[in-house]
Amino acid sequence: MTSATTEPVRVRFAPSPTGSLHIGGVRTALFNWLFARHHGGQFLLRIEDTDETRYVEGAEAQILAALRWMGLDWDEGPDIGGPHAPYVQSQRHALGIYQGYADALLERGLAYKSFVTPEELEQQKAAALARGIKSFRYRGAERDWDAAQVAAAEASGKPYTVRLKVPLTGVTEFSDLIRGGDEISIENNQLYDIVLLKSTGMPVYHFAHLIDDYLMGITHVIRGEEWVPSTPYHVQLYKAFAWDLPQFAHVPNILRQDGRGKLSKRKDDVGANRFWERGYLPESLTNYLALQGWSYDDHTEIMSRAELIERFTLERVQASPARWNPDKLLDMNGIYIRALDPDDLTLRLLPFLSAAGLIDTPPTAAQQAYVRELVPLIHERLKELGEAPELLAFFLQEINPPPAELLIQKKMDPASTRTALAAALERLTPVEMWEPATLEATLRPLAEELGLKPGQLFGTLRVAATGSSVAPPLFETLAAIGRERVLQRVQMALAQLPA
Ligand code: GLU
Repeated sequence: MTSATTEPVRVRFAPSPTGSLHIGGVRTALFNWLFARHHGGQFLLRIEDTDETRYVEGAEAQILAALRWMGLDWDEGPDIGGPHAPYVQSQRHALGIYQGYADALLERGLAYKSFVTPEELEQQKAAALARGIKSFRYRGAERDWDAAQVAAAEASGKPYTVRLKVPLTGVTEFSDLIRGGDEISIENNQLYDIVLLKSTGMPVYHFAHLIDDYLMGITHVIRGEEWVPSTPYHVQLYKAFAWDLPQFAHVPNILRQDGRGKLSKRKDDVGANRFWERGYLPESLTNYLALQGWSYDDHTEIMSRAELIERFTLERVQASPARWNPDKLLDMNGIYIRALDPDDLTLRLLPFLSAAGLIDTPPTAAQQAYVRELVPLIHERLKELGEAPELLAFFLQEINPPPAELLIQKKMDPASTRTALAAALERLTPVEMWEPATLEATLRPLAEELGLKPGQLFGTLRVAATGSSVAPPLFETLAAIGRERVLQRVQMALAQLPA
């Protein structure tokens, strides 16, 4: 019952708005998107918000923003509509889309109204446990009720859910493209009668996603492997409707770096928003995430978006879990940053500098030009854009007078440091060509005259001019800070040293 491979590929990413997107969700969206683009098919976005208890205000907007930032454009979705609009399940429910399908199953005796209360269910579970049955598989007595019994229960006004009447015997089978097309099979006596509609009439995920996948013509269901145990129920539902199965592809979990358990949004700081906040490039995150469970061969790592689209196949998605590696991601981000054109990098850094209050929002033309001038000084060593404010702060705002301990270099004391800085000030004051080469030509001989190692003089000057002992190359730094400010900062540093 597999769908023909000739039909156009249609896949969907169907997040539930229960919070910001987990990075693993972004990876699942990426695999769907790559698959769709590879095959020239469509990628749909659908919001699955039928679980009102887990609904988080604002989450949908955050999810859309994360996908947009990643450049995972969708062909149909909540904001842009499409032939199967609306693409938000609560809105589809309000239109009565799901009820008719539940009614059809009820009429054909493939689903039933279940009058069991949550309390009774708990009691039955406890009783089963007492008998040594650990996983309680609910099968309602109402499975076998006749119409009169159902009518009587309904007339009493008791609330009911609608449950699927899962066969008691036989096996349920399906194949998974990622698990080598292996048949996964489960004895039906291991299953239970899942709820399809809650007593409010609201469909649960199992029901709503399946009706929507069918109506929206989804050919491949690509989702996280945590849904494998639910798939037999979905297969039973497809059977009940006599609909063809889509192709299933369950992508592997991402484990934490130490391999202990799944990557966690809370413990591992991997909400999608955290990556743009910290200054990852969507290009590098895309490349990195593509490799979380997929590979092109055994060595190629850096791949452009176009190459990923061209090369992505489900056959090369592994069944075993992926392992999160933040250091590798960081290095990859550095590689992508280094490959950026300096003008492009400037534009990407401006929001970070604005957010840190170092330049205006939006920046003035002069600020933008100045940042462009500074970019070459940090371009090589930047690994997260979010590091830039700290690296550039002393260029963009006044510094606090550095403490004497920081100014005094190895094998120097307050007096020799004073002498060195005073001499440097004297030499630098008349310099008119305030450029790295002139500055170097002025300062190198001075170190020798003072009987200092270049590192001693340059070290104290670096601290005096920047307030920090780590800064980009000294002469370029002094040049970029500018003559007036350097002279003034050296004077300020001198005042820090006891006479
Ligand atoms: N709404 C489900 C989720 O949040 C979608 C699962 C699926 O893709 O079928 O994970």
